[in-house]
Amino acid sequence: MTAVVTEELAEPYLLGVLATAGLDVEYVRGEGDTLYYRRGDEEVPVLDFVGGYGSTMLGHSNPEIIGYARELLAGATPIHAQFSRHPYANEVAARLNRIIKRETGSDESYFAIFANSGAEAIEAAMKHAEFERFVRIAGLRAEIDAHIEAVRAAVADGTVAAPEANALIADVTAHNEALAGRTPLFLAPVGSFHGKLAGSTQLTYNPIYRAVFSALAAQARFVPVDEPGAVDAVVEAERGWLHDLVIEGGRVTVVQRPFPVFCAVVLEPIQGEGGIHEIPEAFVRDVQRVAAELEIPVVVDEIQSGMGRTGSFLASTRLGLRGDYYALAKSLGGGVAKAAVMLVRASRYLRDFEMMHSSTFAKDSFSCLIAARVLDLMEAGDGEVYRTAESRGTELSNVLQDLMKEFPEVVKDVRGRGLMIGLEFHEQGEAGFAILRELHGSGFFGYYMSGFLLREHGIRTFPTSSAVYTLRFEPSVNIGSADIAKLAGALRDLCEQIRDTDGQRLAPVA
Ligand code: PMP
Repeated sequence: MTAVVTEELAEPYLLGVLATAGLDVEYVRGEGDTLYYRRGDEEVPVLDFVGGYGSTMLGHSNPEIIGYARELLAGATPIHAQFSRHPYANEVAARLNRIIKRETGSDESYFAIFANSGAEAIEAAMKHAEFERFVRIAGLRAEIDAHIEAVRAAVADGTVAAPEANALIADVTAHNEALAGRTPLFLAPVGSFHGKLAGSTQLTYNPIYRAVFSALAAQARFVPVDEPGAVDAVVEAERGWLHDLVIEGGRVTVVQRPFPVFCAVVLEPIQGEGGIHEIPEAFVRDVQRVAAELEIPVVVDEIQSGMGRTGSFLASTRLGLRGDYYALAKSLGGGVAKAAVMLVRASRYLRDFEMMHSSTFAKDSFSCLIAARVLDLMEAGDGEVYRTAESRGTELSNVLQDLMKEFPEVVKDVRGRGLMIGLEFHEQGEAGFAILRELHGSGFFGYYMSGFLLREHGIRTFPTSSAVYTLRFEPSVNIGSADIAKLAGALRDLCEQIRDTDGQRLAPVA
């Protein structure tokens, strides 16, 4: 590509921030777990543990996927053929159903709504959940309207006193009208990340991403995952009641009926951007119970944790978490396509949603055909990919645990499952050396550590976006023992820099 401008016009501020941490390299090629950038005439290899934030479970430029993509393009496969038969989308949905049924032991089908990104899949889920709530409210109000009509009839035939009954009808109608107009709420764990679009960013805990935009969409009530009773307490605090009328012994009285305040519970089985935290099983149980009590859907966001990364196709399966909806994206596109999908349990599915929701690009043949091929690769060899992800992940995790033992004053924790692992550093706000304290104060601690690893060791990792003291490791399933050993060596050097030096080598580049 020949550059035509010298001025930075595409998010120049962000580029500047990356530059201070030494992360502003341009990658020109990617293969497996290696990305290459150019320095003069040479290509410099970088071992990639970011993996496209979880999008390259099968590696960069996976030969089978690239070969298939080439075939599709060479064959002039029509990519834009909206409003026609989509057997390829159906194939993806069918394959996902087979996998989910096997993993969850359920025989209920899930219908699929396609999207282009993770946040978009989440927003489709938010909309479908709100549609469910709307239908419920309409049903409740129709029942109440019928009761109001019965009271009117009773007034007309003189069975109940007119002035009192009419006043109650007016009160009940006004109360219910106001309540029905209230914006719904979502329930989500503290630390959640579900995207950065107008709706999904309200389900993302980090106030940096959420607060400015809170007037744009429905809000979440965030619940700590480690406080027994917290879910019930939040639900209790937000309860709303519709008013209904009954005629008893010639008198009209007002009774309360529960109003569906909450749309859905939305959660990641393993929080990614929040710092790689697995949701405790007790919280999973609370969430499932409360969702059942409120008759609201559980939306399981497997966008980062899913696609085999943790040793099963869905990370939620192992936690006993069962979704009424599932969201998948990232590696579904095989590192090539932008594919995402939202699945809804058949018994909750509202088919009219299909008339209300669509996207020009979603469900296109290219991304669906690639996704179908990705699912074939995932499922090949009786789950070999899942087993490998688990064993590679164990090896990686053991190496990081050893490092934590070696540097207990530097590494605070190592967490995660399979190929979704986080390493958390102790905070450096009180460090003996000014440089470390400055890096802490910048709010970008982990990014500077990433810059060091890139500069000095050719290793690419980033902090999780809402927990900058936690580095993420989400390589492909092909990550090798030598790669893991290289990472360990680089991290050992980094830990020594933090523990034993004044931090000069970690400092921002000039
Ligand atoms: N949910 C989760 C769990 C994620 O990790 C992400 C992205 N990191 C998203 C949603 C949003 O996906 P996207 O960036 O494709 O919109």
